Amino acid sequence: MATPMTADQFVKALEAEGLTISEHAGWRTHNRNGVGAWGPVNGVVIHHTAGSNSLELVYAGRSDLPGPLCHSHLAKNGTVTMVGNGRANHAGSFAANAFNAMVTESSTHPRPDSAEPVDANSRTYGLEIENLGNGTDPYPAAQYDAAVRWAAAVCRFHGWSADSVIGHAEGTRRKVDPSFSMSTFRADVAKRLKPPTTPGTATKTTSTSTGKPKPVQYAPFPGAAYFKKNPRSALITAMGRRLVAEGCGKYKSGPGPQWTEVDRLSYAAWQRKRGFSGTSADGWPGAQTWAALRVPKA
Ligand SMILES: [Zn+2]
Repeated sequence: MATPMTADQFVKALEAEGLTISEHAGWRTHNRNGVGAWGPVNGVVIHHTAGSNSLELVYAGRSDLPGPLCHSHLAKNGTVTMVGNGRANHAGSFAANAFNAMVTESSTHPRPDSAEPVDANSRTYGLEIENLGNGTDPYPAAQYDAAVRWAAAVCRFHGWSADSVIGHAEGTRRKVDPSFSMSTFRADVAKRLKPPTTPGTATKTTSTSTGKPKPVQYAPFPGAAYFKKNPRSALITAMGRRLVAEGCGKYKSGPGPQWTEVDRLSYAAWQRKRGFSGTSADGWPGAQTWAALRVPKA
């Protein structure tokens, strides 16, 4: 479970993904935090506005639904305007099966149940894409590409995979947006997420005996139980080196190959760096932070 981004972190993450950002006056303190929780956050919800010139509407909201109605608005030309920082009235309630598939980053996203016990406004970031949603209004390439970058930026910040991104219609039967394939959209987000574009974490290449470079393979998450078995392995060494590279290493010697309490303290620093707190930053590796750490295959 992750702590939401601050306004500055949000803007920085989007700009790092190559987006053009506009800031609506007042957006940094514009939210619905007074009526409910904001965070921990678990995912990203994509919407279409079902209208045109919706920027002021998604900022201010309507008489029956006060704004902000999302965190960012995306114009046809690809400009992202920040309109909300905190809880926003974008998602409403979600079905538990749909919400859980997003939280666990399931590769399949089931049709939402009719019962909707989850307050998704407290748990998700929302993007409103300017589009009539009638199936014929196009999403210009610049706009679609910006939507992919927006979702990828949020996932990259939190160490999430593209399966943390769902369409509004995938969370609740009440909605039909967005009017494009979310499977294709997730595949496009996944493509952006690897190889990483942030400086210092770019995919490294190694030379084989033939001189042909091949990309580094990352070690899959071995499961939370693995670390509690006090392992001694090349994987622990590789993990420790990555923690050191990320500025989270607490080692006086090593790292590796024996898992020790220092590994746990180092990993806890990495979890905090990724926005986790409390028991989610206890130093026992989890799938999300492991994926974000990109430990080379030992
Ligand atoms: Zn929607």
